[in-house]
Amino acid sequence: MTAKQRRRNAFRNAAYVAPVFLLAAVAVIMQYRWVQRNRYKFASPTRTQIIRCDYCGGSGEVRTPEGKLGPCPICFGSGSRIVRRYYEEDRLCPVCGGMGRIIGTNGRAITCPRCGGRGMIRSSITKRKR
Ligand SMILES: [Zn+2]
Ligand SMILES: [Zn+2]
Repeated sequence: MTAKQRRRNAFRNAAYVAPVFLLAAVAVIMQYRWVQRNRYKFASPTRTQIIRCDYCGGSGEVRTPEGKLGPCPICFGSGSRIVRRYYEEDRLCPVCGGMGRIIGTNGRAITCPRCGGRGMIRSSITKRKR
């Protein structure tokens, strides 16, 4: 093998490796950005707050139409809920009041569509969207 051929071989190898390196770099950047965006899933909450369930008055029980006592559909019978604040801009969801669940139009409890059940919304995002 001449020196010229060897150099050509090395070039071919480099041309093959470069896109793989590029892909790996992009994958790392995407992962980094995903972690940045979902940091609240890993970070410890800055503050926790106990929300008393308004629907059952904190007792955890509600009367069914038949007059029996049953577990509250909003708080699942616990009477309260702990919400975790991850960002400084987080504030209580105005729709569900932090409970994460509301009574829907059909009279059944549904996950709050505003906060997705988290009970907190980031006020800066709503401001930026406008
Ligand atoms: Zn309740
Ligand atoms: Zn909500």
